[in-house]
Amino acid sequence: MIWNEHIECMNRDELRNLQSKRLCETVERVYYNVPFYRKKMQEFGLEPGDIKGMDDLTKLPFTTKQDLRDNYPFGLFAVPMSDVVRVHASSGTTGKPTVVGYTRRDLSSWSEVVARSLHCAGVGKEDRIQIAYGYGLFTGGLGVHYGAEKVGATVIPISGGNTKKQLQLMQDFSSTVLACTPSYALYLAEAMEEHGIDPSKLHLKVGIFGAEPWTHNMRLEIEEKLHIKAIDIYGLSEVIGPGVANECAYQNGLHVFEDHFLPETIDSTSLKSVPKGMEGELVFTTITKEALPILRYRTRDLTILNDEKCQCGRTMTRMQKCTGRSDDMLIIRGVNIFPSQIESVLLEISETKPHYMLFVDRHNNLDTLEVWVEVDGVFFSDEIRQLENLTRKITHEIQSTLGISVKVKLVEPKTIERSEGKAKRVIDRRQLK
Ligand SMILES: [Zn+2]
Repeated sequence: MIWNEHIECMNRDELRNLQSKRLCETVERVYYNVPFYRKKMQEFGLEPGDIKGMDDLTKLPFTTKQDLRDNYPFGLFAVPMSDVVRVHASSGTTGKPTVVGYTRRDLSSWSEVVARSLHCAGVGKEDRIQIAYGYGLFTGGLGVHYGAEKVGATVIPISGGNTKKQLQLMQDFSSTVLACTPSYALYLAEAMEEHGIDPSKLHLKVGIFGAEPWTHNMRLEIEEKLHIKAIDIYGLSEVIGPGVANECAYQNGLHVFEDHFLPETIDSTSLKSVPKGMEGELVFTTITKEALPILRYRTRDLTILNDEKCQCGRTMTRMQKCTGRSDDMLIIRGVNIFPSQIESVLLEISETKPHYMLFVDRHNNLDTLEVWVEVDGVFFSDEIRQLENLTRKITHEIQSTLGISVKVKLVEPKTIERSEGKAKRVIDRRQLK
C-alpha cells in the first residue's frame, strides 16, 4: 500500500532537484517575511541568492525550541494572520508554550503526509481507526484525524484518556487500528487484563504509536500483549505534527517524507554534519510550509539516516527509530544515561512490569539514581527473601548496563502513576536545588 507512489518511490536524483527548488523558495520566503531569519542570515553574511540548492543547506542557521519561545506567540510566522487557519501549541514544561500555525495549504500537506503514514502502516479505507491521541492544542489527535479521513478510514475520534470507554468502543465498534502513545497502549493492555478482555478476540490489527521515544523491546511487549503490529509514527509540532516520518511494514526505519521535510543529522556539540550511517541529532528544514517555515530545527532526537531503497519500494530516506534524545540524557556522576537503557533492561526481566520511574538526587555533592520498578503482586505476599533476590538481580542488570551504582526499589502494581499522554519517567530533583 503506497499512498503517493510517484513521490514516495521517486528516483533520488529527481527528488534532490525537487528539494533544491523548494529549499530556495523557503529561504526566500523566510528572508523576506520573518525578521528573525533575515537577521540570522545577515549575521551569517547570507542572502537568499547564496542558497542555490541542497548543497548549500548546511550554510543556513539553526533554529531551536528557545527561538520559538522567544518569538511567542506568532513572531516566526511568515504569512499574515488572515492566512493562518489553525494554530496548535505544545505545553511548555518550563515557561511559555511553543505555538505553531498552518495555512490551508499547510493543513492539506499535513493530511497528505499522514495519509502516506497510514498506508505505510497498512491502514486504508476498510479500517476503523480509534484515535486516542489528545485532541486540542496538541497536534496528535487532529493531525492523525485528517489524514485518516483522507485515506477513507472510519475515524473514531475518542481522544486521549477515558480508558473504560476506550475499551468499550474498541469492542463495540470493532476498531482495527489504535493510534496513541506507546505508553498508553501498554496501559490499555493492562486495563484489558484487569477487565478480562481477551485482546485476541478484538479486531485490532495494527497500532500507530508515537509522540514519545520508545524502545524495540517495548514494541515487542505491545505486539505480544495486544496481538497487533506496532508501527512507529514520528513527528513534532515545530515541523508539522505527526506524519513527518513513518515505519512501513518492514519496521526497519521510518520513511521521512523528504519532499516536505529535509532531514540531517549533526553532532550536538560541534554542530557539524555527521556522516550517513552514524548516529547524530536529527535536524529538519521544512520546504513546503507557508505559515511557519523552519530552517534546520534541532529536534534533540538521536537517530541514524539511511537512504538506501527499502524493500517496500519507497526511496524516501529512513531514520532509525528514536530511542533516545540528546536532552533527556541524564548525566549522573559524569556518566551519560538514557532512561531508554533502563527500560530495555527491565523489559528483559520477566518478573517486572514495564512501569518504572527514575529519581535523581544529589546528596553531599554526589548524584544518586533510584529506580522504582513495578513487579507482580505475588512477590509481596511471598517470602521477603524472594523480593530481596529479585531486587539484587535487577540492581545487578541495571548496574552492568549503565556502569554506575543504582538503588532499586520494587513496588507493587499500580504504585507508579499512569499517564494517558506522554509518560513521565524521570524526576530529577537536582534541578530544584
Ligand atoms: Zn519501507
